[in-house]
Amino acid sequence: MSIYDEYETVIGLEVHCQLSTASKIFSPAPTTFGAAPNTQVAHVDFGLPGALPVLNEHAVELAMTAGIALGCQINQWSQFARKNYFYPDLPKGYQISQHLHPICEHGEVELDLDATRQTVRIERIHMEEDAGKSSHLTGRPYSAVDLNRAGVPLIEIVSHPDMRSADEAVAYLKVLHQIVVYLGVCDGNMEEGSFRCDANVSVRKKGATALGTRCELKNINSFKFVKDAINYEVRRQIDLIESGGRVIQQTRLYNPDRGETFAMRDKEESHDYRYFPEPDLPPLVISDSWLERVRAGLPELPAAKKARYQRDYDLSAYDAGVLVADRDVADFFEQTLAVYAKDPKSVANWVTNEVLRVVGQGTPLAELAVKPAGLAELVELIDDETISTKIAKQVFKQILATGESPAHIVASKGLEQISDPDKVAELVREVMEKNPKQVEQFRAGKDKLMGFFVGKVMGASRGKANPRVVNEVLASMLAGPDHTAE
Ligand code: ADP
Ligand code: MG
Repeated sequence: MSIYDEYETVIGLEVHCQLSTASKIFSPAPTTFGAAPNTQVAHVDFGLPGALPVLNEHAVELAMTAGIALGCQINQWSQFARKNYFYPDLPKGYQISQHLHPICEHGEVELDLDATRQTVRIERIHMEEDAGKSSHLTGRPYSAVDLNRAGVPLIEIVSHPDMRSADEAVAYLKVLHQIVVYLGVCDGNMEEGSFRCDANVSVRKKGATALGTRCELKNINSFKFVKDAINYEVRRQIDLIESGGRVIQQTRLYNPDRGETFAMRDKEESHDYRYFPEPDLPPLVISDSWLERVRAGLPELPAAKKARYQRDYDLSAYDAGVLVADRDVADFFEQTLAVYAKDPKSVANWVTNEVLRVVGQGTPLAELAVKPAGLAELVELIDDETISTKIAKQVFKQILATGESPAHIVASKGLEQISDPDKVAELVREVMEKNPKQVEQFRAGKDKLMGFFVGKVMGASRGKANPRVVNEVLASMLAGPDHTAE
């Protein structure tokens, strides 16, 4: 047992999600990502004196939506506050955030870990504005500030320190990510920083009840980095304690190239920010009817959808999970069922195997020539034995290439399955005549040769014979000369 096994890891996450609004949280400037620097900026975002913030209603609805989905209590009275600090990309000298009275509190998230189900409690979700961006250009005697991001609406989702490993932290983040993307609350783009997190990490001896001193790892923007940064940090803290030192509360940054965290600044305390209620904005009051309207508009969440697929369509947890992982894929599946409801399992297989394979190769689902109606028709053609599964794969490829309907492809290419026992018997007779030795061996008891005959007959029909009929006719005709199919 290594010394590391004597410690328990404790993690709490603060996740920032940019809300998918067209304009900023307190100004009419657009939130477009990647525009030329300082072109998406209104007076408020520049911090010009006298410019007054006006709260974006849609941002409030998205925050409420996230809160409801994450099981939070929605506070119908909440308040914005000024968080004062100086930074060049924050021209006002304060960030408008929620402090004592956030819009959402007391939620929880169910993790879908392999064996154990676990709950992570959410302490609060508050609304705030994003800051601008400083670029420290190499070889130049100055830094550049871009305020396009200043005032982009954010929610910060703060968890309780309920996670006990990097894997749990990643599982939690993935569930959050899936939910906010599903709801259209956030586009979830981690590379562009739309979804990013600060990981608070501490360690303590197993069995201890008091929390250890934490370090906060800032602004991590990939699932892999979260895992690597936490694992590095846990070892660093244990090594430090074991060598007689103690952890000091710090804000640290993760350097993915070196796989290390390093100190950025000693942790500030809440009172350092001189929070006070924002005088330019009235308290945010949410009426009962507004809250009910948002609640009623909430779509079905992935976990509920997955349970419903397992229950109503008898799908495996794995298949249901694959289908619900992306809302568009789930919609595609259900639109297919809306046209052909008889065989959900088969439709699920076609979506998870064939459709997602093509999507995985780079064609977006929306641009696929195979539409739900076409897939429904294809599965029905298999089910009523018009075509075999094997031929169906060819037809699928043809739809992808031309967008024609499956029935049309089957008719024009003569791909109908041969299910007539008389026609199959002709093929069987041919195959038996060409392979007298194998027939003899089979009749002498070499049952294994059945597969050989099935293969030959299928080949002779160029894949069109109905395998079920082939098996039946073969069994009867191979049994002996007196037992032909006629
Ligand atoms: P701040 O806003 O200053 O970062 P909070 O007290 O609001 O501080 O906590 C922020 C996050 O840190 C929360 O997600 C919380 O769960 C987590 N946290 C607090 N104490 C610890 C600790 N000892 N170890 C790990 N995480 C912690
Ligand atoms: Mg923090």
